[in-house]
Amino acid sequence: MTKTPNILLIYTGGTIGMVKDYKTGALRTFNFDKLLKHIPEINHLKCTISSVSLSEPIDSSNMNPDNWVLIAEIIEENYEAYDGFVVLHGSDTMSYTASVISFMLENLSKPIIFTGSQLPIGDLRTDAKENLITSIEIAASQDKNKPVISEVCLYFEYKLYRANRTIKINAEHFEAFTSPNYPAIGESGVHLKFNKQLIYKSKSSKPLKVRKKLDNNIVVLKIFPGITKLVVESILSIKNLKGVILETYGSGNAPTEKWFVNLLKAAIKNGIHIVNVTQCAGGSVIMGQYETSVELEKIGIISGNDITTESAIAKLMYLLGENIPKKKFKSIFETELRGEMTTAE
Ligand code: ASP
Repeated sequence: MTKTPNILLIYTGGTIGMVKDYKTGALRTFNFDKLLKHIPEINHLKCTISSVSLSEPIDSSNMNPDNWVLIAEIIEENYEAYDGFVVLHGSDTMSYTASVISFMLENLSKPIIFTGSQLPIGDLRTDAKENLITSIEIAASQDKNKPVISEVCLYFEYKLYRANRTIKINAEHFEAFTSPNYPAIGESGVHLKFNKQLIYKSKSSKPLKVRKKLDNNIVVLKIFPGITKLVVESILSIKNLKGVILETYGSGNAPTEKWFVNLLKAAIKNGIHIVNVTQCAGGSVIMGQYETSVELEKIGIISGNDITTESAIAKLMYLLGENIPKKKFKSIFETELRGEMTTAE
C-alpha cells in the first residue's frame, strides 16, 4: 500500500515568508502558521505537511555556520518521521547554505529542497506560490515507494538544480539562479519532469550522519590586475587562517610574478590550504594548461575543477572541520563528495 508522504517545511526567513504592509510599504515576516490561509492550494497536494521555523527567522544575509548547524539539526531530529524536507530560505545566500547542508548530511537518502522567492508570499505578483507548491511536490515525488530525489536541491522559477552547483545570478529577475556547470535535474511546466540520469545516487546505504563541525577560518581572495603584494601578504598572514579560496582568471590562471608565487608557496608551507577556483561563472580550472598556472600546480595548490565559489567555501569549511591530516587534504578536496564538481572517472 502506498502511504501519503510526510513533508516538513523548514522556514528560516527571507522574502518568501514576508508580507507587505501596504500602508508603509515595508516588508515584515508573516506568521508561518497562516501559510494555508495564504496558499489554500497546498491543501490539494497529495502529502501531509507540517512546518517549523527557526526561533528567529532571518534575512539570509545574516546566515552563518551556527544557523547552518541549526538547520541540519532540524533535519536530523525529524529525519525518520518525514519523507522529504523543503527549506524556505532567503535567496541572497541560498546557494551557500544549500551547498554546506549538502556536505553536512552524509549518506542522505531523502529529498531536501531549498526554495525562496523574489517577491513576498503576500504580494500580488508573487513567485513564492509556484516555488513553494512545486518544491513540496518534488519533495513528495516517489517512484515505487522510494523518493525520486535523494540529494540537496534548489528549486526556483521552474528549474530544479543540484544545490551545490548553483549560484545566484540576478537580484530582480524571477529566474534568480543558475547552475553553470551541471544541467537542471528537473523542470516544471505542464508536467513536472525529472532528468533521472542526472540525479545524484548516494554511494552508500549507511544511516544519515550529520557533520556539524565547520571551520570558518577561511578567506576568498579574488585576484585582479594590479593587486599589490601588500594586499596578498596581509591576507595570507591573517591570524589562524586555515584555508583560502583563490579566485583566479579563466581556467585557473594567475600572475607569474615571483613575489606572488612565493607568498602562496610560503602560505602552503605554513599549513594553509589554497584552492584554485575560477572567477568565470562557467567552466573549469585546469592547472598546467597555461604557463600562468604551471607554478600554481607545482607548489601544491588544490584544484577546485568546476566547483562554484559558494560550494568551495562550503567544502573547505566542512573538510577543515573534519580535521583531515595535511597530507590527505588536497586529494580529498579534489575528490567529488556530493556531486559538487566534475572529476575525471
Ligand atoms: N534579502 C533577502 C534574503 O536573502 C532576499 C530574498 O529573500 O530573496 O533573505
